[in-house]
Amino acid sequence: MALKGTTNLPRPEPRQSAPDVLAREIVERLTYRIGKNAVAAKPHDWLHAVILSIRDRVIDAWISSTQKTYEEEGRRVYYLSLEFLIGRLMRDAASNMELMDDMQAALASLGVDIDLIAALEPDAALGNGGLGRLAACFMESMATVDVPAYGYGIRYVNGMFRQEMSDGWQVELPETWLTHGNPWEFERREASYEVGFGGLVDPAEGENAGPHQMMWKPVERVIATPYDTPIAGWRGKRVNTLRLWEAQPIDPILLDKFNAGDHLGALSESNRAEALTRVLYPADSSAAGQELRLRQEYFFSSASLQDIVRRHLQYFGSIQTLPDKAAIQLNDTHPAVAVAELMRILLDIHGLDFDEAWDITRRTFSYTNHTLLPEALESWPVPLFERLLPRHMQIVYAVNSRLLAEARRSGQFDDGAISAISLIDEGGARRVRMGNLAFAGSHSVNGVSALHTDLMKVTVFSDLHRLYPARINNKTNGVTFRRWLMQCNHGLFELIREAIGDAFMDDAEALRDLDRFADDGAFQQRFMAVKRANKEALASLLRKRLNARIDPAALFDIQIKRIHEYKRQLLNIIEAVSLYDQIRSHPEKDWAPRVKLFGGKAAPSYHNAKLIIKLANDVARAVNYDPAVQGLLKVQFVPNYNVSMAEVMIPAADLSEQISTAGMEASGTGNMKFAVNGALTIGTLDGANVEMRDHVGEENIIIFGLTAQEVNERRAKGYDPREAIGQSKELSQALNAIASGVFSPDDPDRYKGLIDGIYNSDWFMVAADFDSYSAAQRRVDELWRDPAIWARMAIHNVARMGWFSSDRTIREYARDIWKIP
Ligand SMILES: *Cc1c(COP(=O)(O)O)cnc(C)c1O
Repeated sequence: MALKGTTNLPRPEPRQSAPDVLAREIVERLTYRIGKNAVAAKPHDWLHAVILSIRDRVIDAWISSTQKTYEEEGRRVYYLSLEFLIGRLMRDAASNMELMDDMQAALASLGVDIDLIAALEPDAALGNGGLGRLAACFMESMATVDVPAYGYGIRYVNGMFRQEMSDGWQVELPETWLTHGNPWEFERREASYEVGFGGLVDPAEGENAGPHQMMWKPVERVIATPYDTPIAGWRGKRVNTLRLWEAQPIDPILLDKFNAGDHLGALSESNRAEALTRVLYPADSSAAGQELRLRQEYFFSSASLQDIVRRHLQYFGSIQTLPDKAAIQLNDTHPAVAVAELMRILLDIHGLDFDEAWDITRRTFSYTNHTLLPEALESWPVPLFERLLPRHMQIVYAVNSRLLAEARRSGQFDDGAISAISLIDEGGARRVRMGNLAFAGSHSVNGVSALHTDLMKVTVFSDLHRLYPARINNKTNGVTFRRWLMQCNHGLFELIREAIGDAFMDDAEALRDLDRFADDGAFQQRFMAVKRANKEALASLLRKRLNARIDPAALFDIQIKRIHEYKRQLLNIIEAVSLYDQIRSHPEKDWAPRVKLFGGKAAPSYHNAKLIIKLANDVARAVNYDPAVQGLLKVQFVPNYNVSMAEVMIPAADLSEQISTAGMEASGTGNMKFAVNGALTIGTLDGANVEMRDHVGEENIIIFGLTAQEVNERRAKGYDPREAIGQSKELSQALNAIASGVFSPDDPDRYKGLIDGIYNSDWFMVAADFDSYSAAQRRVDELWRDPAIWARMAIHNVARMGWFSSDRTIREYARDIWKIP
C-alpha cells in the first residue's frame, strides 16, 4: 500500500562503487551493522560487511525492477520448485552487479583477501542435484533476460547433508548453513499465510453457494512465513525475488497446557510445525514417499498459490484474468498438488463453476518432467492423500471423472489406455498419480532434452499424449555461463576476452568466434596453460583437504554427480580396475598418466549407491599405494561434492564422464558445465549429450555404447549379461577381482552382491557397454598423447557450447510456454 504523497519522499542517492567508496562503506557496515572495529573483526564479520555493501546495490536494482514489473502489468512467471541448489551468492551478486574488481581493490586496500573471505560463505544447498541446480540457474537467467519472475520454494533449516568419509563409507552430517545468519534474506512476516491439513469438508452455506462450492475445515493449521532473497541478473538490469517459506506454529506455545503443567505438550505443536521445513529429503531421482514430504509439498504449494492469487487480486481485481498475468511453472511433480489447490481456491473461495475453474487452472500451469525412471514418478496412497487433503481428494476425483469421460468420448482408447490416463492408479492399493495430475492440469508439458522429450511421448505419457497431442514440447536444459564460466574459470574468461572481445559476456553464442583459434598453436598453449593452472589449484586443494597427491601433468578424468546406478559410476570404477590390471601386465606400453576423480552423494537409504562409494575408496587405496602404477594411475574420491566443489573441479577437468545408460538421464547439466570449461566428454548418446554432439561436432566428443533404442531392443530380446561378460576377458577379470575381495581383503564378500547384480540382470547394461567404453578410453589415451589435437578439440568445445546457456533455455520457455514477448 502506498503512503500518501510518496512521490515527494527523498530517494537514496545513486551509489558509487569506486574502491575507496566501497572500502569506506565496508568499514562503516562493520562498525554500525556488526558492531566491531576493523581490528577486532573476524573474517566472518568482514564477509558479512562485504555482503551488506553488495546487497545495498542489489536492493536499489531490486526496487526498481519491482516498480517496473507493476507498471508494465505484463505476465509474471512463478517458478515453483521444492529445490534451489544455489551455492554461494557473494561472487555471483558482486559479479552480476559488476562490482568484482572494485570490491577486490577495496578489500586489498583494507588488507583483506577477497578469496579468503569468499570461501567462508556457506553453500545454500537447498537441493539434491541437477533439478535443484537447474532452478538456481533459471532464477539467474530469468533476471538476466528480463523476465519478471518469482521463485517459490522451502527455506530448509538443514539442506543437503554434508558428506564425510569414515573408513571409505559415506556418513551424513547435518549442514548448518544458517549458523552465522543469512545476510541475503529478508523475513516478510506481513506476507504470511495459513496452511491447513486434515479435517472435514462440508458443503458451503449461503444461498449463493454454487454446486461445487465446499468448505474445508482443516484440523491442523500452520503459518507459512516468506523469506525473500534478491537474485540479480547479469549487469544488474533486473533483480527478481526468490521467496522461500518457513513453517511456524499458529500458537508458539499452548499456554493452557503449559500452565496446567504439561510443559512438553505445550511446545509440541510448535515443534510439529517447525519440523515441516526442517530438512530437505536427500533423495534424488526417487520418490521420497513419506507423509512429511507430502506435507512439505502441499505446504509450499498452498502458500505460494495464496501469495500469487493475493498479488493478482491486489493489482488486477478479478480472478478471471489470472492466466493472462501469471504463468506458474511446476518444476517436476513436487508442486503438482498446486493444481488441486488452485482449483480449491477458485471453486470454494471465489465460487467459480467447475469448467471455468478448470479452464483458468490449465491456462495458468505448465509442467516440466525431469525423469522417466519409474521409481521417481510420484504417487501418493489414496488414504493418506484423503486424510491430509480431503478437499483436494474430492477435486482430484472430480477432475478425473471429466478427464476419463473426455478420453472415452474420443473413442481412441481401450480400457488399458483409459487406466493409464487416470489420475488414480488402480493396480493394487490405490494411489494418486502426481505426474498425470500435473499433465492434465497444465497447458504445456515439457521434457528437458530432445531425446527425453521423444521418450516421454512413447513411455509414461504415451496415452495422455495421444489425448492431448499438442501439449508435450521440449526445452533442452542449459546452465548459466556467468557462474559456470565467467566466475568459476577466471583464467579462461580472461583468455577468451582477449581473443574475441566481450560480446560473449552478453551472448554466449558469440563464443563461436573462438573456433578460429582452435588450430592456432600459440593460443592452444595459452589455453592449456590456463587448464594447467586450474589443475594445480585443484591439486593443491585436494592436498590441503585430503592430503591427496595428484600430478597436475596427468589427464584429469572426472565423474562428479549424484551416485546412482543409472549414472554408472560402477562402469567407470570397473574400467579403472581393468586399466590398473592392464598397466601392471604391460608396464612397457606408453600409458597416458591419469587421475580419476569421483565425487557425489548417495541417498542415505540407497544401499548400492553407498557401496559404490566404498568401492571407489577401496580401489583408490589399492591403486594409489601400488608402486607398479605410480605416476600412471591415481584414483580419488572427493567427499562432499556440492556447488562450490563443482566450481573448482570442473575448470580443472580434461575429461568429463557422462556415461549413463542410454535413455535414463533426462538431460544432465554437469555435461554442459564441463564442456564450456574445455573438458572433452566421454559419453553415451543420452540426455543432452546427443545435442552436445550435434553442436560441438562428432569429431570433438567421444561417444560410445548402446543407443536408447538399442538398449530397448537388447532388453526386449532377452539380454544375457553372462554372454557379454563371457566375451570380454578384461571385464570378467575385473569383475572377478572385485567380487572375490581383491579390493576388500578385510571383508572379501563386500561386493559380491553388487557384482552378482551385473551377472544376473544388469539392468543398467554395464556389461553390454563395457568393451565399447574401454575402447573409447583407449581412444582418449591416444588423443591425450597429441597435445595439439587435444587442445584443438577442447577449444572447439568451448566455442560451440554457447547454445547451452540457460539464457537460451529461458528465452524458449518465455516464448513458447509463458508467452512473454
Ligand atoms: C550441475 C550439478 C549437478 C548435476 O550434475 P549432472 O552431472 O547433470 O547429474 C549436481 N550437483 C551439483 C552440485 C551441480 O553443480
